[in-house]
Parts: sequence; C-alpha cells; structure tokens
Amino acid sequence: MPEIDNRNSEKTVYELSAVGRGTNLMPECDVPKTELPGVLLRKDTETIGLPGLSELDVVRHFVHLSQRNFSIDGGFYPLGSCTMKYNPKISETCARFEGFAQSHPLQPDETVQGNLKLMYDLQEWLKEIGGFAAVSLQPTAGAQGELTALLMMRAFFRNCGETGRTQILIPDSAHGTNPASTTMAGFESLEIPSDKHGNLDLAALNAACDDTVAGLMLTNPNTLGLFERDIETIVRCVHDCGGLVYGDGANMNALAGVVRPGDLGIDVMHYNLHKTFGTPHGGGGPGSGPLGAGDKLAAYLPGPMVRRIDNAEKPDPGYMLFTPEKTIGRMNSYFGSFGVFVRAYAYILQHGAEGLKQNALHAVLNANYLREKLRGIYPLSHDRTCMHEFVLQGKIDGSSVRAVDISKRLLDYGFHPPTIYFPLIVPEALMIEPTETESKQTLDAFADAMKAIALEAVDHSETLHSAPHTTPVGRLDEVRAARQLKLREDDRKVKDNLNKA
Ligand SMILES: *Cc1c(COP(=O)(O)O)cnc(C)c1O
Repeated sequence: MPEIDNRNSEKTVYELSAVGRGTNLMPECDVPKTELPGVLLRKDTETIGLPGLSELDVVRHFVHLSQRNFSIDGGFYPLGSCTMKYNPKISETCARFEGFAQSHPLQPDETVQGNLKLMYDLQEWLKEIGGFAAVSLQPTAGAQGELTALLMMRAFFRNCGETGRTQILIPDSAHGTNPASTTMAGFESLEIPSDKHGNLDLAALNAACDDTVAGLMLTNPNTLGLFERDIETIVRCVHDCGGLVYGDGANMNALAGVVRPGDLGIDVMHYNLHKTFGTPHGGGGPGSGPLGAGDKLAAYLPGPMVRRIDNAEKPDPGYMLFTPEKTIGRMNSYFGSFGVFVRAYAYILQHGAEGLKQNALHAVLNANYLREKLRGIYPLSHDRTCMHEFVLQGKIDGSSVRAVDISKRLLDYGFHPPTIYFPLIVPEALMIEPTETESKQTLDAFADAMKAIALEAVDHSETLHSAPHTTPVGRLDEVRAARQLKLREDDRKVKDNLNKA
C-alpha cells in the first residue's frame, strides 16, 4: 500500500492552499459604505499571497498543530517546581465574562468598580494566605516579583542610609532566576551551600552574615522539595545582621493554608498565581507574580494597588487605586495580568480556605506516594519525607543512560518528563512534582512507566538513547534548535535537518 499522508499538520497553510477556495467570515456591513480612492484599491487579488483555505481546512490544520504539543489537558505533566496542576475550566469561563474581558485599562475608576473589588479581594486573600501586611498585584511573573522585591530592598536600605549592603545570599539549590534578579537589581550574589540533609548550611550562613548583607533569598520548601527545618534560625540569623529575607514563593503549593511565610519572619515574597492558584502557564498564557510584604517593606511596594473606601452614607463600599507612600514605582503599564487575577480569584473561591489547605496536603501526599513507589528503582537525592516534589537521579546501575534519555523515553509512554538537571547540586537530577490534581491511577501508571524504563535501560539502552520514537518530532539537537531558530513557514528542511542531527 502506498504511504498516504493526510495529516494537515505536516503541511503549511500554503501547501494546503487551493486557488479559489476561501473562508468568508466577514459579517454583513452595518455602517454606511465609503468609496475608497482609486490608488488605494488593489488591482489584482491573486497576488496578495494569502492562502486559500476553507474554514474546515483551517480548523483541522490548527487542531492538528495543537495536538503535536504536550499539554496538561492531554496528559500527566510532573514538571518539578512548575506546579503543572489542572487549570479549572470554570476559571476560564469567568475570565471571559464580558465585564472583565471587555473593560479597558484606562476606564475611569467609577466604571470598573467590580474589577477593582476583584483585585482588592485578591490582595486581601493573598495577604491572609501568606501572612503579610500588604500585597501588590503588579509583577507579571515570579522572576519579576523577585526583581521588584530586590529593588524594594535597595530603596529600603538607601532610605536608612545603609548603602554598604551590597550582597544577596542565595542557596546553591536556588532557581536560576534568583541570582539573575540579584544582578539586575545591582546587587552581588553570594552562594551558600546546602548541608548533607539538603537544607541550607547554617555554619556557612552564619559566616556570611555581616553588615554587607542586604538579604537572603530563600525558597521554602526548597527546590529539593524539602522543608527548611531551621527556617526560624535562618531568618533570625539574617535579621540579626540587619538583612532582610526574601521568600521565593514558587513552592507555595506545599504550604498554602498550612503555613504562612510571613509568620515565619519572611519580609517579602512572590506568589506564582500560575503555579499555586491553577492559572495556565508555559505556552498557556501570561503569568502573575504578586508580591506580599511585611511591615518593613509594605510602603515600598509597586503601585497601583487597590484600597477600599467605606462610606457611611452608601450601602456598598467603593474601591480606588492608590500608590504606597515610598513606592519604587510601577513594574508594568496598567495593572499587571488582570485576566490571570480573575482566574486565580475564581480558583480561590472554588476551593475556599479548607480546600486550599487540602490541596497542599494532597500535593505533599501525592509526592510522597510516588517517591515511595520509585524507591529502589532510581537513587533518591535525599532520603527524607518530601514536601510537594522530590528529586531522583536518572542513573541505573549497569547502564549508560542519563536523565535526559529517561525523560525522552517517558514521552513515548505518554508522560511529560520531569524537570531535569535542576537543582544543579544533584547530578542527573529528575525533579518530580505530581501536584494534588492527579489521581492514584495516574501516579501508578507513571511509576509503572518509570519502572519499565529502568528495565529497558539495562537491556535496550539504545532505545532510550534515541528516544522519543512516537512523537511528531524525534530527538533534537536542542542547542542548535534554540540557537538557529528557523521560523519561516516555507522552510521545510528545518525538521529534516534537525532530525538528522
Ligand atoms: C518558577 C519559579 C520561579 C520563577 O517564576 P516565573 O513565574 O517562572 O518567573 C522562581 N523560583 C522558583 C523556585 C520557581 O520554581
């Protein structure tokens, strides 16, 4: 039988194009027609160069393209530190409500009171969840929250006349954005090692704490998925030398409703609405990294923030924008990622206080369940009860396979790979975060795949080295794919070249 390829996604819209075919989705004209000057009229419609496709052709083309990507709606996505939990569809519906989606950022406050109330409530809820004095919704990513907080810390020390504080302490397990934000904010970063239990080394921290330290950036649970057991001592140590403590809140999915970072002494922390509060991320849309601050730093938060005005003569309170007294200014035009606020607001409403707590507990339970199922098959980086994620090593006795081979092979089994080669302190790291939204059946199926791969690694290592075998695109030269991007539609050789490499 001849090989017939009818998958539209293999062809560009130009290759699918047929002369004379088209889609007319223009509504009937409901305004008076105007004659255009002759010079502006196109003489020859054939040379516009637009592809001729029917509506059905277009739908199939894009549906097929979308199916070539892995997605959280398509399968298990245990990408460590990213909290790829289910994004509830009701949150999407809410974000599309006309009053939200069609409002303009320059509308006068009195015409967008509902939007301002939503932002106000979200600020209040995040304050409560994190244990902070104030929250600004400005930053549009966790990393931007980090930068914002560091700029606030810089302003704080300038205000106190302490310009000699130029160092930010960062654990060696930290996310790469921490040192990057530090450099962007004009500080120097000093790496603090982890101890053999996977916690921050207290002796090293003590030795580093002096009057040149502006602060410490701490992720808790850290990126090994472990709770910083000495958190109170750590915070005291930094405060005693006059520094501030930044909390990287990316891992709040393990703590929300259980522990409040502000109560632990954290001075300022970003939340990732797109991780903890179930809003889409990655290719799925913009992020949001609100910042919570304690008493010392609240006045430096970026504006605009929303304030409630209670009026004795009116039944309903009003809402207005304001800028904190010593603000570092704006981090974005307008208000941040408003559509994401609506989704996170809907998410918090759906779950309530008790639900958020249950989510965190189940996230931790799921991670520990999976960790126990994989015990003995892959080496564990630190053999301790974990929080919402854990780190394995992609190494098998008697096999040459590496973390990257195991990850690529997982795609053939229908699973998104975990985060790999991070944290940097674990060789061949496989960082697995199942999240609370996955069922026991899914976790069992994933564990079975990981076990099957471990057996293949010994008997058929070549299958792993050359994986994936079932995806639309095979093993890529990832460096070249990133450096020599070819985005032109008509360049059909790209895929062949990459596949050959
Ligand atoms: C995701 C993450 C960040 C950065 O957040 P973005 O929203 O991706 O900018 C920072 N730290 C940790 C530990 C993270 O997992």
